[in-house]
Amino acid sequence: METAGFVAGIKQYVVANTQGMYGDLKDLCAIPAPSHFEHERAEYCKKWLVRAGADGVYIDDALNVVFPLGCDGSDEITVFAAHTDTVFPDREPMPYTDDGEKIYSPGVGDNTASVVSLLYMAKYFIENNIVPPKGILFVCNSCEEGLGNLKGVRQLFSDFEGRIKQFVTFDNNYNVIANHCAGSHRYEVEVLTQGGHSYQAFGRANANAVLAKMIAEIYKLSVPEKEGTRTTYNVGIISGGTSINTISQKASMLCEYRSNDRECLEYMRQKFEAIFDSVRSDEVKVNVTKIGDRPCENVDQAKVEELAAKVVGEINGVVDDEVVFRCSSTDCNIPLSLGIPAINMGIGKHYGSHTREEYLIKNSLIPGLEIAIRTGIKLMEE
Ligand SMILES: [Zn+2]
Repeated sequence: METAGFVAGIKQYVVANTQGMYGDLKDLCAIPAPSHFEHERAEYCKKWLVRAGADGVYIDDALNVVFPLGCDGSDEITVFAAHTDTVFPDREPMPYTDDGEKIYSPGVGDNTASVVSLLYMAKYFIENNIVPPKGILFVCNSCEEGLGNLKGVRQLFSDFEGRIKQFVTFDNNYNVIANHCAGSHRYEVEVLTQGGHSYQAFGRANANAVLAKMIAEIYKLSVPEKEGTRTTYNVGIISGGTSINTISQKASMLCEYRSNDRECLEYMRQKFEAIFDSVRSDEVKVNVTKIGDRPCENVDQAKVEELAAKVVGEINGVVDDEVVFRCSSTDCNIPLSLGIPAINMGIGKHYGSHTREEYLIKNSLIPGLEIAIRTGIKLMEE
């Protein structure tokens, strides 16, 4: 397919739709969307796409909004996705301040602005009657953040098993590409003991003390030093106990480790499990629940680089920024673990993600949308 002819039209389209994007960004930021609670945002996106003229849009069981374009009979589909959930647990609308230059709102850059760009990218395809020969899936997906455990993208790859050729997610700044991913295992660990009165029953096992011992052991671990790998761990949340004069009966923690390497993940799994086991006794029960499992990449890296190179070409066609490459843990973990080339790219510039001070450079959405559309056109070639 000859695509050069589209480029001039894209700039005009972006200019004509800039105010619309700002308006939709404000509307979407006002809809809270913790992981697993993306219902309202999903409805908004579905209705928006239908209004824009999209046929066949649906919301699946995982709360993904899926718009298949030209996918019938294709097993070489390209996916463009942006996650709708945010890290914030709030169920009330978030504050939103637009000073003309920056837009402040928790979740604005990660990842609400990306969702807006994805919608306007899809609208460009609809308005120009572009039918990608091998099919594109535009997906506003759920559950990328926190304990979402990539539920949305897992569902997508299950529903379209064997049919997706490449995957691109908008979830970054446009000068950053994640072309590697880190896997992770996450646990909820609960320590249970008989407990008792702090004076009368002194000497019995104390769940808080046992948990503290485990945490101390975890922080004695050295991570593997295999070349080209990075492995980390964290105990993120602890709680426990009943009162100051009760031997604690129950204590718990949320902990995780991450690595971009399978062997290192396996090494950490053994070390963590040995620590969990080491405190088990007749007096101490330890319940371990795996609450997250993000797989490592298992893909032909040359194919990922090929995909990244095409995207970099489009970014360079719009902005002067030098593109930097990263390893991160995102929706790409699922395709990369299945051997499907995937990258995480950006459609704007935002700072302070995962904090309440997060902001977006407002006019960065203009080149961002142009990059998104150009990338869409580029990747439907061949
Ligand atoms: Zn994100």
